Amino acid sequence: MKTVYVDNNATTKVAPEVLEVMLPYFSEYYGNPSSMHFFGGQVQKKVDEARAKVADFLGAEPSEIVFTSCGTESDNAAILGTLDSYPEKRHLITTRVEHPAVGNVSTYLGRKGYRVTELSVDREARLDLDELRESLTDETVLVTIMYANNETGVIFPIEEIGEIVKARGIPFHTDAVQAAGKIPLNMKKSKVDMLSISGHKLHAPKGIGVLYIRKVIGLGKACELAKKHLDEENTRIKSLTDYLEAKLLEKIPNTLVNGDRIHRLPNTVSVSFEFVEGESILLLLSDLGICASSGSACTSGSLEPSHVLRAMGVPFTAAHGSIRFSLSIYNTKEEMDYIIEHLPRNGGSPLSMQRPLCVFQKKDPSRKTWGLFFLLA
Ligand code: PLP
Repeated sequence: MKTVYVDNNATTKVAPEVLEVMLPYFSEYYGNPSSMHFFGGQVQKKVDEARAKVADFLGAEPSEIVFTSCGTESDNAAILGTLDSYPEKRHLITTRVEHPAVGNVSTYLGRKGYRVTELSVDREARLDLDELRESLTDETVLVTIMYANNETGVIFPIEEIGEIVKARGIPFHTDAVQAAGKIPLNMKKSKVDMLSISGHKLHAPKGIGVLYIRKVIGLGKACELAKKHLDEENTRIKSLTDYLEAKLLEKIPNTLVNGDRIHRLPNTVSVSFEFVEGESILLLLSDLGICASSGSACTSGSLEPSHVLRAMGVPFTAAHGSIRFSLSIYNTKEEMDYIIEHLPRNGGSPLSMQRPLCVFQKKDPSRKTWGLFFLLA
């Protein structure tokens, strides 16, 4: 019997070109892309290439592309992930015609005590955008509206909806599982924050989906937190920074503070330990689990001291021994005490900070070893 397959909204045939490029990954290249060895690395390279192609298809950045196992997982992750980020907001807006991948999550959330608004459609399957406008509140955590309907093929005016939703600063997700590959999608020009697609609806195999997440969503949340923390937390951070600085000056001889101690960021203190190479201290601190950075440009392969410290006129012997501690809201006083306790000091530790360490001129890549060697000598 002849087969006429006209059920492509349900699933699609894998394109022969897709199958061809995939086959070696079932036989020859089966490494785990996360492995450290070359065998996994060559698969990782292909995953990165695939990510770049998906990003290009959507007009997005590769870093905005998250691979999932299907459209349903993309929808679930977008909705539940956003709700998780804003636990204080308990209102979700969606439509009555979503695919169960979204509809069932809304029902579940309704049972969990969320207020869910399901926008209605008319006889032509069109939305009333005034109903959407009227439904948006300060409590609305997310609007999730499909791009195109799987049953009728009707396309919702996603960009117009995006304008309305974004004017209220509310995250906007669209299930574009049916739209992808059928109509152009360009995230560069879009108001959409998150968009779901599914491989098996556009001639890729089953078992792969994509969630596009606009970078600014994370940034938006971070800014919201930063605003909230600015006064209260920065006062706390400043007191920790000041405490660390005071203890370093008190406990470690030949320590200088670099820069104006009043007009500086509340989280930053740059100190120089004279006659010691900063990089060596950093390696030692790293062994103790303390992650700070050096004021010198050693990461770029140069042993030149920081141009900032040189411009300030910090003496050569001190500029080489500079360490920058930069704190965040997640640091604690206990951590400052840990640093102070473990930073080597004159007399009481295996490291003599008075001992001149002559590793500055060493240009070869083994200089880290040399630095440690001299410190521990
Ligand atoms: N969203 C829409 C609009 C769909 O049509 C479908 C599948 O039919 C899905 C989500 C679910 O996609 P998947 O089968 O990849 O989980």
